[in-house]
Amino acid sequence: MTLDFDNQVVVDAYRLGGTPAVRRELEIVRRLSARVVFIEIGGYQCTLVLGRESALLVDPLDTGRAARVIKIVRETFGLEISTLVYSHMHWDHISGAAHVMAESRYGVDVAIHAALSCAEGVASRQTGVVPSVVHADGESFDFEGTTVTLSVVGGHTPDLTLILFPEEQVAHAVDLIHPGQAEFFDFGRAIDIWSFERALDALAAASWRVLCAGHGDIGWPTDVTRAQSYLRDLRAVTAAAVDEAVVVQGVSADTPNSRADILRRSIRDGARTALLARWSVLLPGLEYTLDSHIDRMADELLYFGG
Ligand SMILES: [Zn+2]
Repeated sequence: MTLDFDNQVVVDAYRLGGTPAVRRELEIVRRLSARVVFIEIGGYQCTLVLGRESALLVDPLDTGRAARVIKIVRETFGLEISTLVYSHMHWDHISGAAHVMAESRYGVDVAIHAALSCAEGVASRQTGVVPSVVHADGESFDFEGTTVTLSVVGGHTPDLTLILFPEEQVAHAVDLIHPGQAEFFDFGRAIDIWSFERALDALAAASWRVLCAGHGDIGWPTDVTRAQSYLRDLRAVTAAAVDEAVVVQGVSADTPNSRADILRRSIRDGARTALLARWSVLLPGLEYTLDSHIDRMADELLYFGG
């Protein structure tokens, strides 16, 4: 485990060239502010708030990772988790809640907070323990002297919630941006490009100094503006490639689906080179995910115009 309270740059195992086995084992703990701690377990991140009596954990992750988080919270901070907050309904970020309740001294009294849309999603998709405290959009609550505000920004899933700790100037919003690396395949199955861009706008407009983004490095406001700039460029370059592809291809293939396939390949070929030239150094790994980004932007342009 890496314990680092000196605000040094920590490079995760992926960028250190670690093997998958090394990456699964990697644990990083960093203090982000007086009361808020960043914890990364095998590529997944959660946020811990240190209270006077107990700890609040945003995103318990899956069962195996939850067990490792509980151990860190006990051994490093001497606290038990009394309160959970969910960022969104996805199983891989919240299913460990049951294990937290089984292990914590607070047992079934562990409170689980979530935005209303998240609570409804968890209940209908059965991805974790159903939240016990449901919040209206934008609502705040107090955890042992620290304010916690939940605002639904969507983008990744309809219920994706920006969780802010205003006094600490810390934000938790996962699966939107991936600081220090290219955005994920297909933008992490974002709802659509428009929703994704609106979520980034909301994240950029909020007041925070440092971000737990779920994956990648610790996030700073410049990571959000960089993602916004990339999307603007992706939109412009893909739009030009769409115009070119439609003109060149015409109705030449023998079935509608083969024509669509030719069109999609043509758009990728038209957009790829310029985007890689501008962004591959700033966004490591872009060569693997760029085609999926172009496809999603092409969908946005073809179905919604602009
Ligand atoms: Zn997710």
